[in-house]
Amino acid sequence: MSLLDVKSFAAGAWIAPDDSARMIASAVTGEPIARAGGALPVQDMLDHACNAGGPALRKMTFHDRARMLKALSVELGKHKQALYDLSFETGATQSDHLIDIDGGIGTMFVFASKGRREMPDGHVYLDGAVEQLSREGTFLGQHVCTPLQGVAVHINAFNFPVWGMLEKLAPTLLAGVPAIVKPATATCYVTELAVKIMLESGLLPEGALQLVAGGVGDMLDRLGCQDVVSFTGSAATALALRSNDNILRNSVRFVAEQDSLNASILGPDAEPGSPEFDLFVKEVSREMTAKAGQKCTAIRRILVPEARQEALIEALSARLAKTSIGDPRAETTRMGALVNNAQKADVLQKAALIGTEAERVFGDPGAFEVQGADAEKGAFLPPMLFHCADPDAAARVHDTEAFGPVSTVMGYRDLGHAITLANRGQGSLVASLITHDPAVAREVVLGAGAFHGRIYINDRDSMKESTGHGSPLPHMVHGGPGRAGGGEELGGVRGVKHYMQRTAIQGSPEMLTAIGGTWVPGAKEIEAPAHPFTRVFGDLQIGETIHTAPREVTLADIEHFADFTGDTFYAHMDEEAAARNPFFPGRVAHGYLLLSFAAGMFVDPNEGPVLANTGLDGLRFLQPVEAGDRIKVRLTVKKKTPRTEEYGEVRWHVTLTNQNGEQVAEYELLTMNAY
Ligand code: NAP
Repeated sequence: MSLLDVKSFAAGAWIAPDDSARMIASAVTGEPIARAGGALPVQDMLDHACNAGGPALRKMTFHDRARMLKALSVELGKHKQALYDLSFETGATQSDHLIDIDGGIGTMFVFASKGRREMPDGHVYLDGAVEQLSREGTFLGQHVCTPLQGVAVHINAFNFPVWGMLEKLAPTLLAGVPAIVKPATATCYVTELAVKIMLESGLLPEGALQLVAGGVGDMLDRLGCQDVVSFTGSAATALALRSNDNILRNSVRFVAEQDSLNASILGPDAEPGSPEFDLFVKEVSREMTAKAGQKCTAIRRILVPEARQEALIEALSARLAKTSIGDPRAETTRMGALVNNAQKADVLQKAALIGTEAERVFGDPGAFEVQGADAEKGAFLPPMLFHCADPDAAARVHDTEAFGPVSTVMGYRDLGHAITLANRGQGSLVASLITHDPAVAREVVLGAGAFHGRIYINDRDSMKESTGHGSPLPHMVHGGPGRAGGGEELGGVRGVKHYMQRTAIQGSPEMLTAIGGTWVPGAKEIEAPAHPFTRVFGDLQIGETIHTAPREVTLADIEHFADFTGDTFYAHMDEEAAARNPFFPGRVAHGYLLLSFAAGMFVDPNEGPVLANTGLDGLRFLQPVEAGDRIKVRLTVKKKTPRTEEYGEVRWHVTLTNQNGEQVAEYELLTMNAY
C-alpha cells in the first residue's frame, strides 16, 4: 500500500498534508500507511460554514434534511466494501466493521426516519405543549427550538472513525447546523473516505460538511455563542479543551463523551448453570474482545456475588481462551489489533497499574498466539482478565481505563455492595445487570441510575433480541455523568436539540400559531371555502374550521347505544346510582356515543381526499352530557405533516360544546389525506 495523503476539506477545497503532517501506522503491520495534518484556513472554514452551509441548511425543512440524511445513508451503504477494506488497517475485524460502519450508517437512517416521523415539515420544532399563562387564554406560552446559527465542531476518538462521525453528524444536520468534523488522526483515513463519499454524492449543500485531518489549529479560540463543540475522547483531552478561555468566556456549548469505567453486575439470583450466568459470560467476553476492547462502553469492571467469583473466572477464562487473535481480514479471527503500538504500550502500562491491586488470572501479554500477522510488529494483545480480592480498599481498578481488552472481576457481598462498587466509577456511560429478578433490577436502577447514562438489563426473556451492553442506540441517550463527561448524545430527537436553541415564546394564540405552524385554540379561525373533507391536503389551510349544526342527545340514544355496544355501565343506565356518583348529576351519555355523534356531524360521506382515520390524541371529557342536551362540534385544521408520496397526515382540533357554550369534550383527530 503506497502512503496515503489524508486531505482536509476546508472552505470548499481539498487540502493535502504539508511538511508538519503526522505519520499514521497500520495497526496490523506497524508500517506507515498514511500521513495527515497541516496548516488550514481556519477562519475561512468557520465563515464558510456560517455563511454558506448554515443558511442553506436552515432554508430546508426538518423533513428536507431528513430526506437528505436518508439519501446520504443509502450512498454510504453503496460504498461499504471500500470502507471495510480500508478499515482493516485500523485493526478492526469484519464484525467490528458492523459496529462502526454499518452501525454508523444505521444511526443516520434512524435519524432520517425520526426526522420524518417526529419532527415537522417546517422550520420550528415545538418542544412540549402550549402552557396556559392566563385565565382567558389570550396569553400563552410555548417552547420552541430553532437551529443554532453557528457551526458544530465535532472532535472524535480514534476507535470509531465512521460511527463516531455519523452519530454526531446526523442530529447536527437534521437540526440545520453545518459541521466541521475532526476525526482522531490515528484513523482519519477511514473518516476521510466516508466524507468523500458524502461530498461527492452532491446531496449536501455547500459548506454543510468540512473535514479536518490532523490538528484543528486555533479553531476553538475563534468560536462564539452560536457554535457547539462536541467532543469524544479521553477525560484528559476533554478537560484541556473545555478549559479553553474562549470556550468559557463565550459559553460555547461543549458536549463531552469521555472514558468510563463501566461495570456489569451478575444478579444474585444468577446461579451457575442458569441462562443468566451463561449470558453474563457471553456478554462480558464479547465486550472485552470486540474492537479489541477499544470501546468507551466496554465492560471494565465485572461485579459478581463473592461466592460465584471462582465459577465466573473459570467460565469466562474458558470462553476467552477461544478468542483467535490475528489478521483482522481473516474470517477466523475473533479479535484484531489495537489501533497502534503507542496505544498498545498505553494499555500495558494501565494494565500494570491495575495489576498493583489485582491479580492477572487470564491472558499473558508476553505469551499468546497471533495468527496471520507479525505479533512483534502489529499492535496485538490477548484479552487480560484480572481479579481484585479487595475492591473496597482498591482505587486503581475503579479509576484506570486500560483502553483495550482488559477487565477486572470483583466480588460483592450483597446487592447494596454491588451498587456501591458500580458507582465507584464516579459516573459511567453504561452499567449492565444480568438478572431474572425484577426486584433486583428496580433496586439497581434506584441505587445506580444517578451514576449511569444507561442501564442495560438482560435475562433469558430478552437475550435473543437484546442489542448488547456496549451498543449505544440512536433511539436511546448516550453519555453519562462525572467521569463519563457529563454529556448526552443521541436519544432520538433529544440529540437533535443539542444543536438548537430552546426559546420560551410568550404571546397570543395568533402569534403562537404563526410561529409554530400549528393552530392554537383561541387563534383566528379561517372559514372553510368548502367542507374540509372535500379538500386535498395541499389546499387545506392551518386554522380552516367548520362548525356543525347542533344535535340533541336523547335518552333513547343512550339506551340504544348501551344495548348496541353492551356498555350498560350504571352511570348511563341507573338514574339513582349515577346521581350518587360525585361526577354525574344523574344518567349521562356515554363519552364514546358523543365521539360517534361528533363524527356523524362533521364527516362528509362521499369518497374524497380523506383516506383513513388513524386515531385520536388527547381525548378529554370535560362535562357530563345528559339526555336533552344539544351538542355541536368545531373542527379545525391544526397541523399538516406529509407522510408519503401519496398522502399526508392532518391533525384536526375537535371541540364539542353544549347548548350553553360549555366545552364537553376535546381531542385531536388524525386523518390521512391525499395530496
Ligand atoms: P484522545 O486522545 O483524547 O483524542 C480525542 C480527540 O481529541 C482526537 O480527535 C484528538 O486528535 C483530539 N485532540 C487531542 N488534543 C487536541 C487538542 N489540543 N485540540 C483539539 N483536538 C485535540 O482520545 P482517543 O485516544 O482518540 O480515544 C480514546 C478515548 O476516547 C478513550 O479514553 C475512550 O474511552 C474515549 N471514548 C469515549 C467515547 C464516548 O462516547 N464516551 C467513545 C469513544 C472513545 P488527534 O488524534 O489528532 O490527537
